Amino acid sequence: MKFLITGGAGFIGSAVIRHIIAHTSDTVINVDKLSYAGNLESLTLVESSSRYHFEQVDICDRKELDRLFAFYQPDIVMHLAAESHVDRSIDGPADFIQTNIIGTYNLLEASRAYWNGLDLERKEQFRFHHISTDEVYGDLENPSDLFIESTSYKPSSPYSASKASSDHLVRAWQRTYNLPTLVTNCSNNYGPYHFPEKLIPHIILNALQGKPLPIYGNGQQIRDWLYVEDHARALYLVATQSKAGETYNIGGHNEKTNLDVVHMLCDLLEELVPENQYSKQHAGGGGFRSLISFVQDRPGHDLRYAIDASKIEKELGWRPKETFNSGIRKTVSWYLENEAWWSRVLDGSYSLTRLGSGV
Ligand code: NAD
Repeated sequence: MKFLITGGAGFIGSAVIRHIIAHTSDTVINVDKLSYAGNLESLTLVESSSRYHFEQVDICDRKELDRLFAFYQPDIVMHLAAESHVDRSIDGPADFIQTNIIGTYNLLEASRAYWNGLDLERKEQFRFHHISTDEVYGDLENPSDLFIESTSYKPSSPYSASKASSDHLVRAWQRTYNLPTLVTNCSNNYGPYHFPEKLIPHIILNALQGKPLPIYGNGQQIRDWLYVEDHARALYLVATQSKAGETYNIGGHNEKTNLDVVHMLCDLLEELVPENQYSKQHAGGGGFRSLISFVQDRPGHDLRYAIDASKIEKELGWRPKETFNSGIRKTVSWYLENEAWWSRVLDGSYSLTRLGSGV
């Protein structure tokens, strides 16, 4: 099968591509405009595969999308391209409206035009899989509540509102035009190749450098964490095994407060890099926890998200392989072993890959 994957140079998209190239015989066309979040250095493991192709294209460019559909003739579209950082959406929502809503609309229309021209069998097999977030559901009030697939939408931030809009567009294209679509809503991901502006890599890298570890408000916000490779496996299953029109929630059964996550990271770092000058175990070190600094809360910050993932488990047999303890240990070890990747993100030189080579 041929997958056209948007946003494949991002955190989750690159994990999906690494998964497909390593574990299947399918072909991938990675369509990514390479925003600040796109990093081709996350794809070095697959770039020499004859089953991997890269196209630097903005999903808002309809003409280019039409060219890609005509040339590659994909069987499945997996749509991950998005502006994804809540703080950036508060500072400047325009890019979120453009990529997440207008871009999704363009991709739906390009897919529909292409799909209309397919023969009956390929038409039935075609899937447009939209990758979304649990943030569209907003805050959970009662401690025992969980998001299910029919929970109503109540987005709080410009980011989640733009993702909610795109989910609605996708479902409308299914209902109105019969375009075979799928939607998945997933909880917070973590793991290798995560851009350092996000909580977990930000804390690991700041701690290693003895910088403050900022925590919003009192740190009691609860997120349901999922290891990114478990998400990639789930997405492949959904894209290839499910009925058109389906929605699946994907989550890790790992609810943690942000403060607990930061404490765990500090303790793991104490264990794994005792020689670091900021570690408690190093003479004179105050311990990584002493770097924690509580900062003013994010406006509109949701308190708790938690996913009921029983539908995907029952229907497709998916369960996460990693617990939070095993996944966070793998993640911290990956950052310790891959300074070459993250130091090029921190000093900005990763972006030369896209500016210098013209790819
Ligand atoms: P990311 O920010 O790491 O990557 C986004 C990618 O999209 C980047 O490679 C970027 O260059 C590309 N992109 C942005 N605008 C584009 C455009 N106009 N045209 C083409 N490419 C463009 O994001 P991520 O964390 O990998 O998230 C991927 C998807 O999964 C997003 O849709 C996000 O909403 C969703 N999601 C993320 C999480 C999470 O925890 N990270 C959880 C649930 C759902």
